[in-house]
Amino acid sequence: MNSPDASSLLPKNDPNIDPRIEWERIDQCLCGTSLRDCAIWGWGVCERCGTWANTHRPTESSLQFVYGEIYWTTTQQMAGVPLLPQRFENDFHDRVGTYLAALLPHLRDGMKITEVGCGNARLLHELKMRGFDVTGTEFSADVIAQVAKLTDVPIVQGTADDLPAAAFDAVISIDVMEHAHDPRVFLRSHLRLLKPGGIMMIHTPVHESQAQVYGYSVGMMWKLYHLWLFSGVLFDELLEEAGLTILDRSTSLFGWPVVIARKTAT
Ligand SMILES: [Zn+2]
Repeated sequence: MNSPDASSLLPKNDPNIDPRIEWERIDQCLCGTSLRDCAIWGWGVCERCGTWANTHRPTESSLQFVYGEIYWTTTQQMAGVPLLPQRFENDFHDRVGTYLAALLPHLRDGMKITEVGCGNARLLHELKMRGFDVTGTEFSADVIAQVAKLTDVPIVQGTADDLPAAAFDAVISIDVMEHAHDPRVFLRSHLRLLKPGGIMMIHTPVHESQAQVYGYSVGMMWKLYHLWLFSGVLFDELLEEAGLTILDRSTSLFGWPVVIARKTAT
């Protein structure tokens, strides 16, 4: 009997051992409390708010390599995620309808909407078909080129910092905040885009109990990408501090709330 070729079990260009990526340690939660060791090496849990933090994380200057060309090929394959054109179809069936149902009651006809880190842009595509004025952003030029074959949604290369201030009625952020080095800076950069009274929709893993985190997958705890797994306590505090008032969190998708909030700060 032939044994399998062990080298075929591991990906080429494994991002976990990319020599360009540098690592740093942290020992404090965003709320200022010490993190203690927990069940998984390289993660700490906050003794006050119950948030989980990646305590051995890529440095901010390494993110260009983390989210570079490997992310949309090797990384997505390792995570078992379909490639982008297939995601454009799959997302429509397993999430976009839920996002639309949560968001549309808070919008008015023709509003200007942006999604920062829009990926395959399926949600913006659906909003555009409903008459909204939409713009996306993506980090990678290659992703933008691929998405351009699927939809005519305009996509700016960059981040929230590359969009104009106070220009949007609604800002969408899906599966991004957990990747942010500093979620406070992240929220500020998104609020900057909103007109006074504008709406922000955020979907990021938020847990209400430690048991919920113990149910997360290995992919969720992947140290290259997720930097924070927020407790409900901390998430609410961060939004309030940023000047957002939560309007609706009754929709749940993949186990955490789709949060709709209004910018109340000026
Ligand atoms: Zn904390």
